[in-house]
Amino acid sequence: MRLIFNFFILIFFISSNNLYGAEFEGKFTQGSFILGKTKAGSKVIVDNRKVKVSKEGYFAFGLSRDRKNNILIKIFKNGKPEIYEKKVYKRKYKIQRIDGLPEKKVTPPKEVYERIKRENKIIVAAREIESDLTFFKKKFIKPLDKAIVTGVYGSQRILNGKPKWPHYGIDFAAKEGTKIKAMLDGTATMVEPDLFYTGGTLIFDHGHGISTLYMHMKDIYVKKGQKVKQGEIIGTVGSTGRSTGPHLDIRLNWFGVRLDPATVLDLN
Ligand SMILES: [Zn+2]
Repeated sequence: MRLIFNFFILIFFISSNNLYGAEFEGKFTQGSFILGKTKAGSKVIVDNRKVKVSKEGYFAFGLSRDRKNNILIKIFKNGKPEIYEKKVYKRKYKIQRIDGLPEKKVTPPKEVYERIKRENKIIVAAREIESDLTFFKKKFIKPLDKAIVTGVYGSQRILNGKPKWPHYGIDFAAKEGTKIKAMLDGTATMVEPDLFYTGGTLIFDHGHGISTLYMHMKDIYVKKGQKVKQGEIIGTVGSTGRSTGPHLDIRLNWFGVRLDPATVLDLN
């Protein structure tokens, strides 16, 4: 099945390569990160958003968890538009039940509403950064040497019997204090030691609206504005914020669109 799918992707890739001026790397499935390449100097519009195109012609975008309609990518070069309409394939998501969480963490008490609102704003702002960095075109690496996945993207969470937001990250089991590596070169745009939900939290900008987030960290070794190299130790695994035990949860975003980090990581 996977082989057949890859074959179709290959056909897509070859045909788009031959007929048009753009290539896409990544599957057009819900939650996917897509890397595009076109002629330098082109203008690119994804849905209705004008996206940055690097000097070499690279651009990036992503598909949301529940996207149902096709995606339109318009490429303009010398005023001549080329339109790509891609079908977005649906996925089936797991249902994950977690019981025994402290009730105040499942339904936050009124007195922390303001705090949560304030913290969300900081995260949203960091994710809206649209820099000229082009690290997103490189291959990501796993954040932990031993990557034992315990939670996947898209799962519908039922906490203490109450349906909550889907899980948008990948959870890795690890001992407290395990070193965390930067998955990609980037600039730290948010460094927060103690957020209500996510505890010790880091956001890195990788360019063109692509960002990664690491949460529940114990120690954080980087400062806001610091540039890090792929593989650099950025902190350690903890159980800070809303967490049932030590683990690492990572996120991948295209601006506010939450993507599946598994679409950029080789987890095998
Ligand atoms: Zn998680």
